[in-house]
Amino acid sequence: MPSFFDTSIEFLKGVGPQKAALVSKELSIFSYGDLVQHYPFRYEDRTKFYKTHEVHGDLPFVQLKGRISGLETIGEGRKKRLVAKFSDDEGSIELVWFKGIQWVSKKLKLGVDYVVFGKPAAYGRKINIAHPEIEVLTTQNENAAFLQPVYHTSEKMKAKFLDSKALSKMVRQVMLLAEQHIQETLPQNLIDQFGLIDKKLALWHIHFPGNNELLKKAQFRLKFEELFYIQLRLLKLKISRIDKFKGQVFNDSSLLTKFYNEHLPFDLTGAQKRVIKEIYQDMRSGRQMNRLLQGDVGSGKTIVAFICMLLVVSRGAQATMMAPTEILADQHYEGLKDFAESLGIGIAKLTGSSKTSERKQIHAGLQDGSIQILVGTHALIEDTVQLKNLGLAIIDEQHRFGVAQRAKLWSKNAAVYPHVLVMTATPIPRTLAMTVYGDLDVSVIDEMPKGRKPIKTLHQYDSKRLEVFGFMKKEIEAGHQIYVVYPLIEESSKLDLKDLMDGYESIVRAFPDYHISIVHGKMKPQDKDFEMQRFVRHETQIMVATTVIEVGVNVPNASVMVIENAERFGLAQLHQLRGRVGRGAKQSYCVLMTDYKLSKEARTRLETMVKTNNGFEIADVDLRLRGPGDITGTQQSGVLDLLIADISKDTKILQAARNAATDLLEQDPDLSRPENYNILRHIQSLKKSVVNWGRIS
Ligand code: ADP
Ligand code: MG
Repeated sequence: MPSFFDTSIEFLKGVGPQKAALVSKELSIFSYGDLVQHYPFRYEDRTKFYKTHEVHGDLPFVQLKGRISGLETIGEGRKKRLVAKFSDDEGSIELVWFKGIQWVSKKLKLGVDYVVFGKPAAYGRKINIAHPEIEVLTTQNENAAFLQPVYHTSEKMKAKFLDSKALSKMVRQVMLLAEQHIQETLPQNLIDQFGLIDKKLALWHIHFPGNNELLKKAQFRLKFEELFYIQLRLLKLKISRIDKFKGQVFNDSSLLTKFYNEHLPFDLTGAQKRVIKEIYQDMRSGRQMNRLLQGDVGSGKTIVAFICMLLVVSRGAQATMMAPTEILADQHYEGLKDFAESLGIGIAKLTGSSKTSERKQIHAGLQDGSIQILVGTHALIEDTVQLKNLGLAIIDEQHRFGVAQRAKLWSKNAAVYPHVLVMTATPIPRTLAMTVYGDLDVSVIDEMPKGRKPIKTLHQYDSKRLEVFGFMKKEIEAGHQIYVVYPLIEESSKLDLKDLMDGYESIVRAFPDYHISIVHGKMKPQDKDFEMQRFVRHETQIMVATTVIEVGVNVPNASVMVIENAERFGLAQLHQLRGRVGRGAKQSYCVLMTDYKLSKEARTRLETMVKTNNGFEIADVDLRLRGPGDITGTQQSGVLDLLIADISKDTKILQAARNAATDLLEQDPDLSRPENYNILRHIQSLKKSVVNWGRIS
């Protein structure tokens, strides 16, 4: 039976098929249900009247009462505009129109009382409001005590008079009809526990808030519901996977102990020990592991990965480690080879540039089990690569790989899926990790190896370039190496490439006695690798590069990272770049170069970098500045398609919703108890309709 909320919006009074089609096309609103969930994105406060002298340019919107005391058209051509002097007892401001001048000037009357509403802007000491809403003052609008909802629309819709007000009228029609169709979606105990208002009230006040307090309550209730159902889905997914997929049992730690006692060149940090324990627990549990290992750059994830591989190797099974680039695969291989060989473990590397003869050998070794650890790029998920018994698949720098690639890894062992460990240095704030990776278990290395000197970060203006060059010279004379990084953004890459080449030339001129490498995205992979290797071997002292060096590269002798046009980088990127230095015992530096002119946001980013080395702190600021959609690796997740909650701001609600969902599934895993009937019914109605979870229907 189709529900009331499936009714097409074309049946609303004053809508009809044509307007309905436009609204559907522009906003994906098809049914009553879609419309009711098209929540206002902000509210205009019509409860307060400002006085003209209180108005300043930073106010989002103001409502004023007063009269027009002067009206003139000034300027010519495109600059022509109508300017009205609008006064109250305290002073005056200007109202300005650029369009519809004739029509507006005919309508406006001097000496009549008006109500004006709009966004003020400051030009020097003058304040004006461009294209304000203006109505003759009536007892009704004078005493209007409400928050007016503002809805997203589009230019095409506005052209057909489907503006925010028209949408509001449509919503009101549906809401008046919907009364007996809206069902409660949360159980009474949660409503009581969190002091939520009921669903009906919440929907009403989200669209037509009676007052500020009711609006807050409506928002809280709907955000909680949305996040609760997302968490419930993720947790259920996790549970069902645990039930469904068995994992090989790896409970022999003898090789691990041997390595630990005889070969490990340093003490593990407490955090490394903890995450190894967490992973070990999973791998001997008999269930398939799906775990995300987060750790800031340089926190020592590679050795953790290797130690976990030993658990698998002890039992005669195999482990793979996949890196996003050839350089990284090389580095992992070089790093692990000695360890593996010292323990008599067969290890090999497979990348796009492995020769055919080499490949054949590797394929054979993987099939007969003599190769126990395989390091490589995505070449290792190709169908031709068959393993005798893949027990653990590790993916480094996760965000470069898609979900499909992960699935391919699984299929490498159809008998029993391999355990999967995904490693990332992108510091994902806890709240985001919880939402996006809610179905993975998360381990965090939140401690750096001892003896590391925190990187010193400074912000320098371009005018100080000579001093920066002087500093670089000193560092090179002390035997260290230096990165100089330029931004390269796809669309403007020609200009950026010119910047890079100019910079390169000026560095060549300033450092005639040294060798300089250059690497950028337009180069062939082999050439890039060649230059990179020269730098790794210390044949060059300075590496001039675009962000291609961003991920994972390990040159412990590099002690300075100079970032040009630093204002053009995002925080996450700056932090990744900075992580390329500070990998040895010596003091390292990061120099952020910019012009004097900087936006407020850019300044915040630079200040954050100067202030802290902590990736999680930086990620939190990043999330606040940019919102969650931008953070690498989350775009394809689909779960961030939120109607009302904002995970960068609603952290507390998210946490509460997560806890509530966890408790619920612990107490009533099948949702079969009568008191949870609302939840079961809601989930079933969601499954029936095509809409995603978290929606009403
Ligand atoms: P990332 O987490 O960025 O992948 P790596 O695994 O590359 O970091 O480790 C960075 C460096 O720190 C490597 O040279 C590694 O050998 C070293 N390292 C790792 N763990 C420790 C430790 N507990 N004590 C000292 N050095 C360590
Ligand atoms: Mg790494």
